[in-house]
Amino acid sequence: MLKIGITGGIGSGKTTVCRVFELLGIPIFYADTVAKLIMNTDPVLKEEILKTFGQKSYSMDGELNRSYISSIVFKNESELDKLNALVHPAVFRAFDNWLGIHYDAPYIIKEAALLFETKSYTMCDLSVLVVSPEALRVKRVIARDAISQDEIALRMKRQLSDEQKMKLADHILFNDESRLLIPQILELDQQFLNIGKRS
Ligand code: ATP
Repeated sequence: MLKIGITGGIGSGKTTVCRVFELLGIPIFYADTVAKLIMNTDPVLKEEILKTFGQKSYSMDGELNRSYISSIVFKNESELDKLNALVHPAVFRAFDNWLGIHYDAPYIIKEAALLFETKSYTMCDLSVLVVSPEALRVKRVIARDAISQDEIALRMKRQLSDEQKMKLADHILFNDESRLLIPQILELDQQFLNIGKRS
């Protein structure tokens, strides 16, 4: 099964790109959405979070106390590393299970903001980087979310730069308002279908 990893900086348009692949019938594993979900559903992960961050991490009915966890990890880098060290392996496990469901797809896509940073691209056959100018990304994220410019800058700091990621990526999609995005996606889809048929 051909596995494609798609990534890009905050607001670059990776989810938008994946929605188009989804319309083409390609199964997508949204790693960041799964990460949020499994903190409420994976019993092993929940136990590890409770052990690491204490009883206050979950409410009485077993829901993650997001504001409590955020208050710990977003002001302390080493606490964030601790949380990631628990969540990332659990996401890898969920991805493995998910792959089993989509064994007959021509190819599949894993969308992850930190595909390179977490080394999860090593579990994919090919990687795609969505690139968009920083000013445009900031404008789009502010229009999409209730988020400050400082918070966006903080998230960008935790991600590799586009220059660093371009060295690692097999394909680049330019979402910069000067090149049409959909033809670039259709071209990649054809390439992946051809590689998928041969593998
Ligand atoms: P994040 O890392 O924050 O999840 P992302 O890389 O997944 O972001 P998207 O959510 O796909 O980015 O895009 C950010 C915002 O920009 C969204 O509101 C999306 O609709 C918009 N957007 C992305 N690409 C385009 C485009 N080519 N034309 C118009 N709007 C776009």
